Amino acid sequence: MVVLSIKTTSRTEFVDITSKVQEAIGSAGLTEGLCMLYVPHTTAAITINESADPSVKSDILMVLNEVVPWEAEYRHGEGNSPAHIKSTLVGASELIAVEKGRLVLGTWQGIFFCEFDGPRTRRVQVKVIPA
Ligand code: ZN
Repeated sequence: MVVLSIKTTSRTEFVDITSKVQEAIGSAGLTEGLCMLYVPHTTAAITINESADPSVKSDILMVLNEVVPWEAEYRHGEGNSPAHIKSTLVGASELIAVEKGRLVLGTWQGIFFCEFDGPRTRRVQVKVIPA
C-alpha cells in the first residue's frame, strides 16, 4: 500500500490528487486491476467530480457549507461537528478501475481529497488490487 501525504492550507478545501494517485499506481507497477483509495480521517473525505472547471469544486464546497452550518446546537465537545458530518456525507473511499496502467476516469473527472477541518497534513491510502 502507498500512503499519500496531503498538506491542506484552508479550513475547507478540495485538493486535486489525480496525478499523485496515477503516480502511485505507476510506482506499484499495476497495469490491470482496481485502485482503492481510503481516507483514514473522521473530518476529511474523498470524492470524484469535475476537475476541468475549478468553480465546480467551489460550488460543491459552498453548498456543503450551507447544508451543514458552522454554528448549530452540536453536542460534540471538540467543536468540529460540521467537519465530521461533511466527512460522512461525502465518504471515506473510492474504487477506480485501472487499465494499461492508467486510472479509468471520465474525460472531466478528477479525484479530490476533501478537507473539512484544516489546515492539516493528511493521509490517503492507495491500495492496488491486480485483477
Ligand atoms: Zn471532533
